Amino acid sequence: EKVAFNEVVQEVLNKFDFNSQYKVQFEDLSESSFVKADEERLVQLLINLIGNAVKFSPNGGDIIIRAEKSENCVKVSIQDSGIGIPESEIPTLFQKFKRIDNSSRRKIGGTGLGLALSKEIVLNHNGEIWIESQENVGTTVYFTLPLFEQANIVNREDLSGHRSSANPTVMIV
Ligand code: ATP
Ligand code: MG
Repeated sequence: EKVAFNEVVQEVLNKFDFNSQYKVQFEDLSESSFVKADEERLVQLLINLIGNAVKFSPNGGDIIIRAEKSENCVKVSIQDSGIGIPESEIPTLFQKFKRIDNSSRRKIGGTGLGLALSKEIVLNHNGEIWIESQENVGTTVYFTLPLFEQANIVNREDLSGHRSSANPTVMIV
């Protein structure tokens, strides 16, 4: 379905009851883009990632959610100033049940499924997801989702079965 991405972010942020030690910002530079998405899954994705940003920032701090247009996608980032992730662990965290066991995390609960599920949701939407992080500085999780218009472009020649590449027509369906 056609989903206004910024509205979904706002809806999810309204569900969270952020403690006052967090300063949460949503910067929408995406010109109110539409994405082709399953809204319920998108809500789930944002809850997982924003939930992690909160949970792994036990002393609060800034949480910045940014959406911008990048090529044919909306590129989203969720940035926290929390405990961060050791570099060697970053590639493993999308595996199911993968958690990090160290002293700064001992009191933080979870099952280790959030990121695995988040990756599955993003890949199902033909997007990409990745993490940048520095220990004791913070973490930024990025994902992309194709713009609605892009996901629906059909080359008219493909439909009619013959080509005229000199004059390609693009149709939005
Ligand atoms: P669940 O999401 O199932 O409740 P979880 O939050 O521990 O449990 P994931 O969301 O899959 O599991 O994250 C896996 C691990 O990656 C976490 O246990 C944590 O160590 C690390 N991690 C994820 N997000 C962050 C973050 N924003 N900052 C620091 N570490 C993170
Ligand atoms: Mg989680």
